[in-house]
Amino acid sequence: MSKVAVIGGGIVGVATAYELAKLGEDVVLFEKNYSGSGSTFRCATGIRAQFTDEANVRLMKYSIERWEKLEEELGFDINFRQTGYLFLATSEEEVEAFKSNIRLQNRFGVPTRLIDMDEAKEIVPILNTEPFLAGAWNPKDGKANPFKTLFAYLFRAKEMGVDAREHTEVVGFEREGDEITAVKYRSKGKVERVKVDAVLNAANAWAPVINEMVGLKRDIVPIKAYKHQLIKTEPLERGQVEPLVCPPSWNDAYIIQDGEDGGVICGAGIEHEAKSLNDVEPTYDFLRGALRYALMMAPPLKYAHVIRQWAGFYAKTPDRNPAIGKLLNNFYIAAGFSGHGFMMAPAVAQAVAELMVKGRSKVPLDWGWYDPYRFERGELRTSAFQIG
Ligand SMILES: Cc1cc2nc3c(=O)[nH]c(=O)nc-3n(C[C@H](O)[C@H](O)[C@H](O)COP(=O)(O)OP(=O)(O)OC[C@H]3O[C@@H](n4cnc5c(N)ncnc54)[C@H](O)[C@@H]3O)c2cc1C
Repeated sequence: MSKVAVIGGGIVGVATAYELAKLGEDVVLFEKNYSGSGSTFRCATGIRAQFTDEANVRLMKYSIERWEKLEEELGFDINFRQTGYLFLATSEEEVEAFKSNIRLQNRFGVPTRLIDMDEAKEIVPILNTEPFLAGAWNPKDGKANPFKTLFAYLFRAKEMGVDAREHTEVVGFEREGDEITAVKYRSKGKVERVKVDAVLNAANAWAPVINEMVGLKRDIVPIKAYKHQLIKTEPLERGQVEPLVCPPSWNDAYIIQDGEDGGVICGAGIEHEAKSLNDVEPTYDFLRGALRYALMMAPPLKYAHVIRQWAGFYAKTPDRNPAIGKLLNNFYIAAGFSGHGFMMAPAVAQAVAELMVKGRSKVPLDWGWYDPYRFERGELRTSAFQIG
């Protein structure tokens, strides 16, 4: 059994701590604030295999298979529901692009199909079909409750002996050559150290700070924090907008009914580079812009009250694909998840834990695609479709 430190108590860190414990590792999990306080508790709940490249389609196909069994495995209600994702095309060129994406997704067993607006209206009764020509529909995509999912993973991880330390910030490392030998952390104002055999950087937007602490270049994995926001309405009768509905050409705007209370979550690609890693102040331009798109998609929403607006980070690499893999002999990273870290977590956590313990994984994760050193080599991937 080796001692593994996981840095970051978001869904990726917590799920990986759980997977490491399953493999018999002695895990200490550091979270500088409270678990989920980074991007995870601010996300839009969405889970999809509708990506536009092979690596992300295959990873998400597998991740959804894990999601399907997660309630049973973790023994908690996490409110995972396969209510689908519906992308909407506004031009003939987009319909052609959808067809090509569908062919790719079908090739890897994702059952997306092109649907007409009559069928779209059956799926989303309050949809304004008029601006749209066709939809890309995958009924296996879905949503889950981020709070319940993270707590379920954390509960089971602790049960298996994971030492989860909240309000405990990693502040430094001890290193011999390419090996990290100890992690230094601050808790209740006191700095202490723990000897470790391996470390995972799962700090997402904060990952470059951790890389720098280790003695790597801060931008070896160039992750930047972008402020993304959501608005939520009061609860509506269920069944109005159960899938995530998104016309990508409308600035990636989307709506989805929260699986928990039926409020409609409205998002859009109206983003701001974060002024600092504390900048989660919601903005008025987002409120106006996101609501305008939401009402164009579903006009009856004008009768619903907005009850909340909040912001969090999309931690973005230049190609919007995460960095997953090894940075030094015993120092690993899984960070930079843009708008898709929640949905990927079950697959990524398993893959990373297996990589750290066994040196290989049975998860269909293309290590070359997500290679953390690709930026240094100037090898960007095609941009991952980024919305939630
Ligand atoms: C508005 C919005 C909507 C989104 N919608 C979706 C969606 O629908 N579907 C989806 O899949 N994804 C979505 N995302 C993205 C998703 O939230 C993230 O990709 C995911 O939560 C990343 O998880 P993580 O564990 O990597 O990072 P985080 O949840 O950010 O966790 C990283 C943690 O590291 C901790 N940390 C940092 N530095 C230190 C340190 N020195 N010591 C100890 N701890 C430290 C932080 O406090 C933080 O809690 C959305 C994001 C936003 C903002």
